Amino acid sequence: MSKTNWQLWKEKKAGDSVRPWDLLNPNIQQVDEDTYNHRYNICLSCPSLIQATKTCKKCGCFMAQKCKLPHASCPIGKWGAYTEVADVV
Ligand code: SF4
Repeated sequence: MSKTNWQLWKEKKAGDSVRPWDLLNPNIQQVDEDTYNHRYNICLSCPSLIQATKTCKKCGCFMAQKCKLPHASCPIGKWGAYTEVADVV
Protein backbone atom coordinates (compact mmCIF):
# COMPACT_ATOMS: atom_id res chain seq x y z
CA MET A 1 0.00 0.00 0.00
CA SER A 2 1.43 3.39 -0.96
CA LYS A 3 1.77 6.20 1.56
CA THR A 4 -0.37 9.30 1.47
CA ASN A 5 1.15 12.73 0.87
CA TRP A 6 0.45 13.51 4.54
CA GLN A 7 2.41 10.44 5.71
CA LEU A 8 5.32 11.31 3.42
CA TRP A 9 5.32 14.92 4.70
CA LYS A 10 5.31 13.77 8.34
CA GLU A 11 8.23 11.40 7.70
CA LYS A 12 10.20 14.13 5.95
CA LYS A 13 9.60 16.51 8.84
CA ALA A 14 10.44 13.95 11.54
CA GLY A 15 14.07 15.07 11.75
CA ASP A 16 13.30 18.79 11.59
CA SER A 17 12.95 20.40 15.00
CA VAL A 18 11.05 23.43 13.68
CA ARG A 19 7.29 23.28 13.43
CA PRO A 20 5.02 25.97 11.97
CA TRP A 21 3.04 26.20 15.20
CA ASP A 22 6.23 27.11 17.10
CA LEU A 23 5.46 30.71 16.05
CA LEU A 24 2.31 30.55 18.16
CA ASN A 25 4.02 29.01 21.20
CA PRO A 26 4.35 31.71 23.90
CA ASN A 27 7.19 29.72 25.50
CA ILE A 28 9.39 30.12 22.42
CA GLN A 29 10.92 33.57 22.12
CA GLN A 30 11.87 35.05 18.80
CA VAL A 31 15.27 36.30 17.69
CA ASP A 32 16.23 39.98 17.81
CA GLU A 33 15.77 42.18 14.74
CA ASP A 34 19.45 42.10 13.70
CA THR A 35 19.55 38.32 13.74
CA TYR A 36 16.27 38.13 11.85
CA ASN A 37 17.47 40.56 9.18
CA HIS A 38 20.80 38.74 8.83
CA ARG A 39 19.08 35.41 8.30
CA TYR A 40 16.36 36.71 6.02
CA ASN A 41 18.79 38.65 3.83
CA ILE A 42 20.76 35.43 3.28
CA CYS A 43 17.54 33.72 2.22
CA LEU A 44 16.54 36.59 -0.07
CA SER A 45 19.76 36.18 -2.04
CA CYS A 46 19.65 32.37 -2.05
CA PRO A 47 18.83 30.52 -5.30
CA SER A 48 16.79 28.03 -3.27
CA LEU A 49 14.25 30.70 -2.31
CA ILE A 50 11.10 30.85 -4.42
CA GLN A 51 10.88 34.62 -4.75
CA ALA A 52 7.14 34.76 -5.47
CA THR A 53 6.18 33.03 -2.23
CA LYS A 54 9.38 33.53 -0.17
CA THR A 55 9.34 29.77 0.41
CA CYS A 56 12.49 27.67 0.64
CA LYS A 57 12.76 24.82 -1.89
CA LYS A 58 14.90 22.83 0.55
CA CYS A 59 12.69 22.86 3.65
CA GLY A 60 9.36 24.11 2.29
CA CYS A 61 9.09 26.81 4.95
CA PHE A 62 7.94 30.42 4.67
CA MET A 63 11.23 32.06 5.46
CA ALA A 64 9.82 35.40 6.65
CA GLN A 65 8.38 33.38 9.54
CA LYS A 66 10.95 30.63 10.04
CA CYS A 67 13.78 33.18 10.40
CA LYS A 68 12.11 34.43 13.61
CA LEU A 69 12.56 31.13 15.45
CA PRO A 70 15.78 30.82 17.46
CA HIS A 71 16.09 27.05 17.03
CA ALA A 72 15.56 27.21 13.25
CA SER A 73 18.42 26.69 10.86
CA CYS A 74 19.08 26.59 7.14
CA PRO A 75 18.90 23.01 5.82
CA ILE A 76 22.08 23.55 3.78
CA GLY A 77 24.02 25.34 6.51
CA LYS A 78 23.88 28.95 5.33
CA TRP A 79 22.76 30.10 8.80
CA GLY A 80 22.28 28.30 12.07
CA ALA A 81 20.26 28.12 15.24
CA TYR A 82 20.60 31.01 17.67
CA THR A 83 21.03 30.41 21.37
CA GLU A 84 20.90 33.92 22.85
CA VAL A 85 17.41 35.33 22.41
CA ALA A 86 16.19 38.82 23.09
CA ASP A 87 12.70 39.87 23.99
CA VAL A 88 9.91 38.78 21.74
CA VAL A 89 9.96 40.82 18.53
S1 SF4 B 1 16.85 28.38 4.45
FE1 SF4 B 1 18.85 28.13 3.46
S2 SF4 B 1 18.41 27.04 1.57
FE2 SF4 B 1 16.48 27.88 2.29
S3 SF4 B 1 16.28 29.86 1.26
FE3 SF4 B 1 17.24 30.24 3.25
S4 SF4 B 1 19.43 30.22 2.85
FE4 SF4 B 1 18.43 29.23 1.10
